[in-house]
Formats: sequence, C-alpha cells, structure tokens
Amino acid sequence: MPAIRVLPDSLINRIAAGEVIERPAAAVKELVENALDAGARRIAVRTQEGGTSRIAVTDDGGGMSRDDLLLAVRRHATSKLPGDDLERIGSFGFRGEALAAIGAAARLTIASRQRGADAAWEIAVDGGKVRGPKPSSLAAGTHVEVRDLFYATPARLKFLKSPASEYGHVLEALERIAMSWPEAGFTLTEEGRRVFRVEPEGGLLPGQRRARLCAILGPEFADNAVSVESARDNATLSGWIGLPTLNRPHGRDQHLFVNARPVRDRALLGMVRAAYGDLIPHGRHAVVALFLTLPPEEVDVNVHPAKLEVRFRDANLVRGLIVSTLRDALQKNAGLVANTLAVAALSSFQAPSAPARPSAPGLGGFADIARPLARPQDAPPPAPEESAHYPLGAALAQLHETYIVAQTGDGLVLVDQHAAHERLTYERMKAALKKDGVARQGLLIPEVVELGEAQAARLVRRADELAELGLVIEPFGGPAVVVREVPALMDKDDVPGLIKDLAAEIAEWDTPVSLKERLESVCATLACHGSVRAGRRLSQAEMNALLRDMESTPHAGQCNHGRPAYVELKRADIEKLFHRR
Ligand code: ADP
Ligand code: MG
Repeated sequence: MPAIRVLPDSLINRIAAGEVIERPAAAVKELVENALDAGARRIAVRTQEGGTSRIAVTDDGGGMSRDDLLLAVRRHATSKLPGDDLERIGSFGFRGEALAAIGAAARLTIASRQRGADAAWEIAVDGGKVRGPKPSSLAAGTHVEVRDLFYATPARLKFLKSPASEYGHVLEALERIAMSWPEAGFTLTEEGRRVFRVEPEGGLLPGQRRARLCAILGPEFADNAVSVESARDNATLSGWIGLPTLNRPHGRDQHLFVNARPVRDRALLGMVRAAYGDLIPHGRHAVVALFLTLPPEEVDVNVHPAKLEVRFRDANLVRGLIVSTLRDALQKNAGLVANTLAVAALSSFQAPSAPARPSAPGLGGFADIARPLARPQDAPPPAPEESAHYPLGAALAQLHETYIVAQTGDGLVLVDQHAAHERLTYERMKAALKKDGVARQGLLIPEVVELGEAQAARLVRRADELAELGLVIEPFGGPAVVVREVPALMDKDDVPGLIKDLAAEIAEWDTPVSLKERLESVCATLACHGSVRAGRRLSQAEMNALLRDMESTPHAGQCNHGRPAYVELKRADIEKLFHRR
C-alpha cells in the first residue's frame, strides 16, 4: 500500500468543489449570496449556455481591497465569522469555500473596488492557479466571472445536463434568493436576453414582501394565497400559503426560508405536507412561501456544504408552529376556495364579441325581443330572506343530474353534488373515528417486524397511543416488535411498511403521523365509494339538505381528492359579465 500523504491544496479544493458547487445554479447561488452579504442592492447575473460556459455576477456592494482579493480565493478564508462563533451565523456565507471551489474547478476572475477606495483590483484563478492582483478599471462594487465551469474536474463535467436544463436551475435558484430579499433588485440575462427582472422593493414590510412574491410566483398565487403570521417562544413564522385548490404535480413551488436563507429541507417540507394533510390530493403539492425566523443559535445551518439543509435545536417547536399555523389559516379560509375559483369560472364564460343583432330588423322583431320572458311556473324562486339566510343559499335546480344551482343573498352557488357529498361522508367518518376510536381486528398470525433496538423500544413506549388508533403491538425482545391487531380498515399487507414508517416518524417527530394519514386515506377511498354519484336526480329537499350539511362541515369547499365542491359567483361578478359594471 502506498504511504499516507497530505493532499496538495489544488486537489483538496477540487474535491471540495464537488460538494459546494454541484452545478452552475449552485455557483450562481454562492456568488449572489456573496453579493448580498456585501450589502448589494442591485445584482445582475449573466449566463451563457445555462451557466456552463459563462456566469458573470455584478453587484454594487462594499467590494474588496487588493489584500482581500488574495484571501477571498483561498480555502477557509472568510470575513463572516467575526467571533469564530458557529452558533450565531447571520450571513449567507461562513465556510469560506465557494470562491476557492469555483477557482479550482473553473476559470475565475474577480474585479472589485472597496467602497471609498481610489483604485480597483482584479485577480484571476485558473484551475486553482492564482494570478494577480492587477489594477482594474471597475468603478464600484464587485464583478465575478466564471468561465468553463468544471473544465478542471472532468468527472463533474460529465454530469452537466443540457444548457436549457441548467438554465432552468439557475433561474430557479435566483428566484428563490430574490424571494427572500425584497430589498435588492435582481436581473438574469441568458445569452443576451433579459429573462428575469425584479426591482428593489425598498424594505421588508409585509406589503413589500408580498409584492416580491407575486412578481415571482405570478398573479395566480396572488389571488389564491392567504397570509400567515404567528409566533411561538422565540420563533416566528410568516408568509403566504396557497389555498389547497392551488396545487402542483411537483413540490418546486414550496419555498421555505430559515432566517432568510432559502432551504430545501425534507423535514420542513414534511411539516408543510402534514399541515395540508388530506386537503391536497395524493401526489399533488401545495404552493407556499414561508419565512421562519428564529435566533441563530436555535438553528444549525452547517449541516450541508451547500447549506440547503438545517437542523433545529427544538424540532418539535418548529413542527408545532408550522403545522398549527397552516392548519388554522386553512381552516379559517376554507370558504375562500370557492370565491377564488369563481374568477377562473368567470373567464371561461364567453361573452359574445359583438352585440347580437336581431336577424330581421324591423318593428316586429324589436317587439319580440322586448317582450319579458315568461317565468316558469313550476319552480318558484325562494323568498329572498330564505336564500339570504344561508351561506350556500337555497337550491333552485339541478343541472345535468350532477350540479346543484343555489341562490344566495348576493350571488349564486354551483355545487358538484358528488364532490360535496364525498367530503361530507369523509368528515363524518373521521369524526366517528375520533369519537368511538378505531375498529380493530386481530391478525391470524401475529406479524413480527424487525426494527433497530432503539426504534423498537421507542415504538413500544407509545403502545397505548397506537392502540387507540387501532394498532396493537408488543415487544418481541431486542430489535423486534410483534403486531397483534391492526385497524379493521387497513390493508394487511401494509403492516411491516407501516410499522417501519411509524418508528422512523416517532424517532424524528415524536408523533405517529403515518398511521393517521393512512387511516385518513382509507376513509377517503371509502367515502368516495359511499357517496352520491353524479347522475342521480335529487329532490329539492335533498338538495337543500346537502347544502345545509355542507355549511356545518369543515372543509366542505372541496372533496377529499382536492377537487372543488362548489364555486360561488357574486352578483357583482355576474354584473361584470354582462357589462353592467
Ligand atoms: P464565504 O462567503 O463563506 O465567506 P466565499 O468563498 O464565498 O466564502 O467568499 C470569501 C470572502 O470573499 C467572503 O467572506 C467575503 O469577504 C469576500 N467576498 C466574496 N464575494 C464578495 C463580493 N461580491 N463582495 C465583497 N466581498 C466578497
Ligand atoms: Mg460565500
């Protein structure tokens, strides 16, 4: 075996580069965060071929002196840990790795002028070799150029995707940072085309934050999100969360920030999922922008070289804060679902482009048109006070044996009878579960499930709580547990998987989430099968009964697969439709 040796710096840097700079978007993120750490208010990013051949970042921040430049490109050199205090990190950077890593893997040049200095300087690093500093003509701030990323690390070069796909990641990374920092303006120019631009919002007031989020997430988010704001101990949570009916097939629009740092943290994403629970259909994802703020010593950001993951000193506090804040907001705004959908409904009503003219103009034709329409005698409209009384109004008619039309005090409501009934059945089953507990059934052959020693012990400690949910387990010695009874509704083949998930969840969160979730999903399926199908004729009394039931049921705005159960058109919207307003 060859003798042990200490690796040369150039090699160490190339190895580290692989962790810190995974792809062009990661380089953009590091450079833009450096600019923000330097107090920049305007940051321009230019890329070619999705950043694979060129990335340039220009900022108007505090800049660097000649000596700073020399240190900046060295590994583990940073200006951001003043008290050597890893427990109180108040900047994006602190590891002093990014510039060294980029310099090791690419051709890097940095020009900079320190604020107030009479000269600017430029330094170059090419595959780890430093040249300069030499004088530069840069007027202010810092300009960083990265060419041929990964040319010096061919192994990584091979993993680059197409320029178009790398460009997508760059844009996403920049948008995330821009969401967290409304005080600064950002632009992205790819191949000479300006593709993204947000102006500085001036500050961090809620309105300014909202303006920035809407600029990035679009008007659909603006119309379909509600704000949240809450605090627990010394942690605060604020931001905007999409209504459950605004959902996506991917989780990329779940934007989470911890002390302004954009993170992609699985644990946090799990908390969001738990909060929406069964309001979002399986396989779909809510849209959120959430800002968690807590004292720096409560959170460890030094978990991941790219700083995308975090650890909380008190994870249960954070989970409680997120889950209860989001649940409250969703509960309070359950009725909003229908209103915002009305906007979409409105746009699908086609108003004729030109006013219709009678085909045979003349007095006779005119008289025909002017005659008032006969009122159908068999379905008298409800008295106004009756319809105004209930939020979902009084049923007037059934359309296509699927939809109920109801008149409310100030508009009309259209109900999908199947979706509505499904939610009602489901909520009733859940309420029954809560009240009478879960029906259990014994397993013919008790199932032994192998876990870790610690996990098995943890699970057994919660045996009473699990029994309430219909799951009866006992210790089986050492790392195993034996399962004797399971909830009657549950799929028996699922037992080992369920037990393992539960053990992992209890280890991480101290709560057995997946059992409840699975029970809820069984209820959802049963509810769907037990509900009034579309296509059944309902009497007026049945329709009104359904409406009254919906009003007293939580989350009646959507079925348990996330489809809306009703839409509401306000009278004002109807008037707009006919240009009366
Ligand atoms: P870190 O950000 O973790 O400190 P970097 O390698 O990204 O490590 O940067 C090293 C140092 O270079 C920073 O601590 C900072 O002092 C300086 N620096 C980097 N980019 C800029 C910039 N755009 N403006 C001013 N100073 C910068
Ligand atoms: Mg940095």
